[in-house]
Amino acid sequence: MKIAFIGLGNMGGGMAANLAKAGHDVRAFDLAAPALTAARDAGCTTFDTAKEACEGVDAVVSMLPNGAIVKGVYENEVIGHAPAGAVLLDCSTIDVATARDVIGAAQGAGYDMVDAPVSGGIAAANGGTLTFMVGGTDAAFKRAEPILSAMGKAVIHAGDAGNGQAAKICNNMLLAVQMIGTAEAFSMADKLGLDPQTFYDISSVSSGQCWSMTSYCPVPGVGPQSPSDNDYHGGFASALMLKDLKLAMEAAGSAGANTPLGKHAQEIYEAFAQDNGALDFSGIIKTL
Ligand code: NAD
Repeated sequence: MKIAFIGLGNMGGGMAANLAKAGHDVRAFDLAAPALTAARDAGCTTFDTAKEACEGVDAVVSMLPNGAIVKGVYENEVIGHAPAGAVLLDCSTIDVATARDVIGAAQGAGYDMVDAPVSGGIAAANGGTLTFMVGGTDAAFKRAEPILSAMGKAVIHAGDAGNGQAAKICNNMLLAVQMIGTAEAFSMADKLGLDPQTFYDISSVSSGQCWSMTSYCPVPGVGPQSPSDNDYHGGFASALMLKDLKLAMEAAGSAGANTPLGKHAQEIYEAFAQDNGALDFSGIIKTL
């Protein structure tokens, strides 16, 4: 398949490489020259503009920083430039309203399009083990699924346009709250004289068990290997968690959802990310 790939950063670089590895003819574009060089090394063909990358393709995949950029790229460089009948897949994490707007515009111009944000970080993007949560019609999902499968381990249809983004921000809001709660529990256990490993051994088989504890423990040396064992480097940057919490609070406001803990989690990560934006989000334990 001929696939245009727009946005070859930390995530998109590995994803485009996996499409090329799967035998697709990948036509890549990014504003940054080093990203283009890396894409060529990974077997993609690169172009000077997104419009050129979209010429004659069967599909367009994008992995871009935010909603305003996604909207600009699709309105100015993809819609009307990719052939009629191409399927469009935006994998960026953006606000639900913009995702629905862009998909509406694409559908109005006769394209099938899905929002397909991911769970999993740079390692999963490189390793082809991302989870995709996909919003769009059944027909669009059916066309997108085999393309996404070449870049991930799970592809789940979340419902209509924008529902992929809705699933992503609800999941990450829960993750932030859960991580803060886990970090608070370990900090308090320590202050009460409880050894962290002993607390882990008890809580990981009790009702406090959760992913932040048993897969991503914020205490170094406890549980499986995680960014806490690397002084909170690598993993999921606090700045990106903050981005997702802001999107979640925006969506909660417009949907009239009551999310007091999500709001508090945003405030906590806002303060933490000011000086620690590049640190993994489990580093929040340092503040407790
Ligand atoms: P990044 O900043 O590393 O990459 C974004 C790329 O887009 C950059 O290479 C940039 O040059 C390019 N770009 C910007 N504007 C462009 C334009 N108009 N045309 C073409 N290219 C353009 O970001 P990333 O970490 O790869 O994240 C991409 C998306 O994935 C974001 O929406 C992010 O929230 C989401 N995400 C990231 C992670 C992660 O761990 N990094 C995890 C899950 C989801």
